[in-house]
Amino acid sequence: MKFTLPELPYATNALEPFIDEVTMKTHHGKHHQAYVDKLNEALAKHPDIPEQSIEALLLNLNKLPEDIKTDVRNNGGGHFNHSLFWKIMTPANTFVPPSKELMEVFKQDFGSFEKFKEQFADAAKRQFGSGWAWLIIDKDGKLKVTSTPNQDTPLLEGVPLLGLDVWEHAYYLNYLNRRPDYIEAFFSIINWKVVESLIGE
Ligand code: MN
Repeated sequence: MKFTLPELPYATNALEPFIDEVTMKTHHGKHHQAYVDKLNEALAKHPDIPEQSIEALLLNLNKLPEDIKTDVRNNGGGHFNHSLFWKIMTPANTFVPPSKELMEVFKQDFGSFEKFKEQFADAAKRQFGSGWAWLIIDKDGKLKVTSTPNQDTPLLEGVPLLGLDVWEHAYYLNYLNRRPDYIEAFFSIINWKVVESLIGE
């Protein structure tokens, strides 16, 4: 079983000025590539592991041989999280706000879109050290904000719709220690159409 680095759905400079080209090039071409390579290295130790999706692999970490469990958790998680991250962003000149229908869901589950944004930004700010802030659809079909440390995924809690990488490698070149500015910038380049399409999956 071998995983590959997905191509970015836009040019590496397309998210500027919100995310700079050098960060994108390094983040996608080096960091994400390294997660894919290390995941494949770990899996190559056990060729008997059946072919499956990255989601299935991460949902069944307990079934994996002990010697690769941690490597798959970290690098497989890294591969899954970043693959979603690239997809749910879009250049600012193609930005479209959430649809009326999606706004209605935010209103139902959070009170308002602004309240959702506040909760999400808070989760991203409070994540101590490296990790991710998430919007997920939980097992009861409700939208929920959560966060995970390192490269852990929220897959056991529900379906991730939106994830923000708050590892320093995601923002430090441009924002230094100003994580809140990076979080605010992210809201200018979210691909809400893709986010909404994930609700039905
Ligand atoms: Mn990252």
